[in-house]
Amino acid sequence: MQLDTLENAYIIVEDGVILEVGMGSRAHLETHSAWAKLGGGSMTSPEIEWIDLNGAEVMPGLVDSHTHIVFAAPRHEEFALRIQGATYEEIAAAGGGILNSAKKLRETTEDQLFEDASKRVQIMMEWGTTTLEIKSGYGLSVESELKMLRVIKRLKQTFPIHIKATFLGAHAFPIEFKQRREDYVDLILRDMLPAVVADELADHIDVFCDEGFFTPEQTEQILMKAQQYGLPAKIHGNELGLTGGVQVGVKMNAWSVDHLEHCSEVEMELFKHSNGHTIPVALPGTSYFLGIPYAPTRKMIDYGLPVALATDFNPGSSPVASLQTVSALACTQMKLMPQEVFHAVTCNAARALRMENEVGCLAAGMSADFLVMKSKDAVKTIPYYLGQNQVQQTYCRGNCVAN
Ligand SMILES: [Zn+2]
Repeated sequence: MQLDTLENAYIIVEDGVILEVGMGSRAHLETHSAWAKLGGGSMTSPEIEWIDLNGAEVMPGLVDSHTHIVFAAPRHEEFALRIQGATYEEIAAAGGGILNSAKKLRETTEDQLFEDASKRVQIMMEWGTTTLEIKSGYGLSVESELKMLRVIKRLKQTFPIHIKATFLGAHAFPIEFKQRREDYVDLILRDMLPAVVADELADHIDVFCDEGFFTPEQTEQILMKAQQYGLPAKIHGNELGLTGGVQVGVKMNAWSVDHLEHCSEVEMELFKHSNGHTIPVALPGTSYFLGIPYAPTRKMIDYGLPVALATDFNPGSSPVASLQTVSALACTQMKLMPQEVFHAVTCNAARALRMENEVGCLAAGMSADFLVMKSKDAVKTIPYYLGQNQVQQTYCRGNCVAN
C-alpha cells in the first residue's frame, strides 16, 4: 500500500468530516472552491476557525481494534508470579487470570468501573488513539456482562473519540460452570445474547476459541446465534496453539481473528481466501508481556495479508495502552517495517472494525481524526523512540481532544 506525504498541506474540515486534503498557501486556500463552499471565502469569517500547526507533521489518528479496558483491578501480583516462572495456564488453574478479574468485577460498582476506565481512555487519547474497541468478558454472568457493556456505552457517550463495544461473554468458563461447560454455552445463547441485543449494547460479538477455552464447535454455535441477531463476529484464536480459531472464524465470516501467536500456512491460506473479509489482528504487547511467541506477521504480510495490530490492553496479559509501544515491538520483535506497522495501526485496523470508510486515513469524506506530531518522519520515529509519546496533540472529529 502506498503512503503519500504532502508538504505545506492543509486539511479542510466541516462538521467533523474532512472536506479536502491538499497542498498550498493560505492565499491559495482562500480562492479554493471547497473553502468557498464553507463560508464565503473569508478567513476572518467568525464561522471559520483557522488553526495554524506551524509546519508540524500530521498523521491519521490511531485505531485500536482490540482492548479490554473495563476492568476492576490491575493484576500486578500475577505479574510477579509470572516472572518467577508461572505460566498463563497455571495462573488460570490456580483461580487467577480471567476468573480473578471476573470475581473482582462482580464486586465493583458500575460508577467505579466507569471512573477507572475513563482514566485509561484519557491516556490512550493522549497517545494518539482516536478509535477504540472495548470488550466485555470479565462479567461472565448475565448481570455482570450487562454491567460491563453499560460502562462501555457510557464511555461512548462521554468521550469524543469513536468507541465500539464487543460482547465477550464467551471469554472463559466461570468457576461455577467448570464441570458443566455446555450449560454456560446455553446461558450465553438463551439469556446473555438476547439481553445484550435487546438493550443494544454491542456492535460485535467475540469468543475465546482456544485450548482450555471454547471449542470451535461451541464457538460456531455461539456465532450462529449471534448472526441471527445481526451481530458480526470477532474471535480470540490461536493464542495457545493451532486450535481451529481461524477455520471457524473464516467459516463464520468473522471480521477478524485476533492473537494468532500460532499461525501456519494453512491458516494464512484461509485468511487469503477470505479476500480481506477476515482480518488477521496481532497483539505484540501480549507476546512481550507473557513471553510467548509473536504472531508470524512478517510471513503473513509477505503472504499478502492485511495485518492489523492492537494493544489488547487488559490487566492480565497486556497492560499496554499505547499503539506507539505496540508499533515499536512490531518493528523490533516481528521485523515489520515502520510503514507496514503504520498501516497496521491505522487503515488495516479500521478494516478489522469495518470502519475503513470512516477512519484510518486522511482523505475527503473521512472523520477528521489526526495527530499533530512532535517530530518529523513520525512513521519512523514512533517505533524508534520506544516508550516516548510522539504525539503533541490528538484531534478527533476536527476537535482537539488531548494535548
Ligand atoms: Zn483480548
